[in-house]
Amino acid sequence: MRIADKTVTRAILERHGFTFKKSFGQNFLTDTNILQKIVDTAEIDKGVNVIEIGPGIGALTEFLAENAAEVMAFEIDDRLIPILADTLRNFDNVQVVNQDILKADLQTQIQAFKNPDLPIKVVANLPYYITTPILMHLIESKIPFAEFVVMMQKEVADRISAEPNTKAYGSLSIAVQYYMEAKVAFIVPRTVFVPAPNVDSAILKMTRREQPLVTVKNEDFLFDVAKASFVHRRKTLWNNLTNRFGKSDDIKAKLEKALEMAELAPNLRGEALAIEDFGRLADSLEEAGL
Ligand code: SAM
Repeated sequence: MRIADKTVTRAILERHGFTFKKSFGQNFLTDTNILQKIVDTAEIDKGVNVIEIGPGIGALTEFLAENAAEVMAFEIDDRLIPILADTLRNFDNVQVVNQDILKADLQTQIQAFKNPDLPIKVVANLPYYITTPILMHLIESKIPFAEFVVMMQKEVADRISAEPNTKAYGSLSIAVQYYMEAKVAFIVPRTVFVPAPNVDSAILKMTRREQPLVTVKNEDFLFDVAKASFVHRRKTLWNNLTNRFGKSDDIKAKLEKALEMAELAPNLRGEALAIEDFGRLADSLEEAGL
């Protein structure tokens, strides 16, 4: 029997008198086939260390611990720590860290792996209310994670993996795809969780690129320009850029010059631009003095 078997999950919750906290995004997985599929998608073996975010009562952690070299699991809810000590007692390759992942100093934490030189993958059923902050925190930690295989709200997975000229494409697609290749691996129905969330979920697989997709002079400025270009999705690049940089004659002249240098028509919409286009645009805007 597995922790994720419905009867086992129910017994654990009852034994510890656990009640779900909505504010922590607690929806626990109770489907062992899906857990196996997550581990297979992440290609976890004994040559890989895993960071898990939000182990809950350990449903996914159990599968990870069986397959990986070591697992480090960050859990914010104090009430789950004694439960995890109970459910994972047979594993000597799991460390549970009672900390908010957004406050964790990951560079220091990963030194606590017995073999910190193994490749590290992030595998998690994320708390949906902070999916984007968690991903940005992980990416910005500059730790060379080999891969993220994470469950999230389907709509967010679609936005992250979106291609240009689609409704889902936006600054989030660009912020992640700049560093990682992102692909929806499979969809997960809401019925396999307790309690059931009111949205469907998806497993998103993100693999780090050897190098960012484009080389730019200033990464922060690239993300700033991309964000500004989607503020009003239905408006043109020109409208969004003048909103961001200003409407004086001097600025308009610089904007015109930059767009010309980047070979982009001012009447395009942000959603038509690939990340490479945004890279050229950001560099040209800087060169034009904006
Ligand atoms: N992994 C378990 C599963 O699949 O059944 C639980 C997943 S549940 C969707 C999300 C988990 O993340 C909960 O255990 C919740 O307490 C935890 N959590 C929420 N916010 C967190 C944070 N900021 N840092 C670490 N864990 C967090």
